[in-house]
Amino acid sequence: MTRAVIAFGANLGDREATIAAAVRAIAEADGIDLAAVSPVYETAAIKDAGVDDGAPRYLNGVVVVETSLDPLALLDLLQRIELEHGRVRTEHWGDRTLDLDLIDVDGMMLDDERLVLPHPRAWQRAFVLQPWLDVEPAAVLAGRGPIAPLRAAASDEVERR
Ligand code: ATP
Ligand code: CA
Ligand code: CA
Repeated sequence: MTRAVIAFGANLGDREATIAAAVRAIAEADGIDLAAVSPVYETAAIKDAGVDDGAPRYLNGVVVVETSLDPLALLDLLQRIELEHGRVRTEHWGDRTLDLDLIDVDGMMLDDERLVLPHPRAWQRAFVLQPWLDVEPAAVLAGRGPIAPLRAAASDEVERR
């Protein structure tokens, strides 16, 4: 079994309902045991040009799972759950009903065309690090170090729901 950290985000539609359904789908999937679900935070949408105050705000958080799936099978599952929740891909970093990212899988470093581990931008995102810190205060991001100081250095604002 490996331990994986999955980040969720939603900024369109009924965000709470989508997140609840996604967490349930993850928990019920074969080969996955849910270990922790973080508090949920509200955050501003970030686009290529920076914070977009005109875009609907996100709800963000993380779940920690124990899984027998390999990382690409886990990514397949997450992408299937995204599609089941009506996700349509349009612009880069565009608004979406559901985004599920694989943040860390037991400290594994991977550079596949479909999957980069750890998630290459997680180290600078308070909207990932803060909820992760809430459930795993001693967590470490491979190649970057403990997440507590990374969280302290991240400049995006998160508001506990
Ligand atoms: P960001 O990656 O900056 O959070 P995003 O979540 O909006 O942006 P997507 O459009 O959801 O990006 O994903 C683009 C592609 O990233 C996916 O098709 C997937 O194959 C790839 N990818 C690479 N590494 C990861 C990862 N660790 N978790 C999820 N997707 C990943
Ligand atoms: Ca993302
Ligand atoms: Ca994504």
